[in-house]
Amino acid sequence: MATEPKFIVLVGPPGAGKGTQAVKLHEALNLPHVASGDLFRQNLKDETELGLKARSYIERGELVPDDVTIAMVMERLSQPDCVNGALLDGFPRTIAQAEALDQALAARGQKISVVPYISVPDEVLVERLSGRRLCRVCGKSYHILFNPPRQPRMCDEDGGELYQRDDDKPETVRNRLKVYWERTSPLIDYYRRRGVLVEINGDQPIEKVAADLRTAVADD
Ligand code: ADP
Ligand code: ADP
Repeated sequence: MATEPKFIVLVGPPGAGKGTQAVKLHEALNLPHVASGDLFRQNLKDETELGLKARSYIERGELVPDDVTIAMVMERLSQPDCVNGALLDGFPRTIAQAEALDQALAARGQKISVVPYISVPDEVLVERLSGRRLCRVCGKSYHILFNPPRQPRMCDEDGGELYQRDDDKPETVRNRLKVYWERTSPLIDYYRRRGVLVEINGDQPIEKVAADLRTAVADD
């Protein structure tokens, strides 16, 4: 049975829970999870040319330039697993990126289905980012207090070691939030005007946010 292509864009500040929720939605909807931050971190780890270009921006909590970012994500979206949709997490983060995505999808005869905007107050974000830990093997995100692993410092899925991202240190977090409000928050209006935005209260327990998101993305 042919299914309607589904492109979902998760928008929200750093620490809103996009990655946490994307993993759950990916399982529920069977859509590939395309996370620009994960793609950059893989390139940093592999020391690719793209990783070298992106490193200094990521370390300072700045956005990587649009041309580099757009090319990386478009290449990912051109893979066969994305023909029928994708769950975008962390991209777009600027109006130029949003326009590039709209154009690329239009050229394929496709469009964005829905844009859940996960909103969380800044003071909660700082608390979440300072306690965030990631698995070195699979990238799964935990929180030392709010979402701890079953065994200390060890991933529940694969036993991988948990680490703190360098850009989750307080000085960088402050800059990332400033950059979010300046460069990314205009996307909220951009998508609201197109009638695809659905606001989700992200300041609730993880399972409640997940339930609200499932409702928001469900076919009518
Ligand atoms: P993002 O991808 O938007 O930056 P993450 O999904 O990595 O955010 O979540 C940031 C941190 O907050 C992680 O440590 C995660 O475990 C924790 N977290 C995510 N959602 C919630 C929630 N609803 N309540 C409490 N903590 C949360
Ligand atoms: P978070 O989960 O905390 O929102 P990400 O993992 O999505 O952070 O991104 C980490 C860093 O990678 C960003 O601070 C930025 O430097 C870079 N980055 C990720 N996505 C983009 C994007 N769409 N445009 C520009 N830079 C990006």
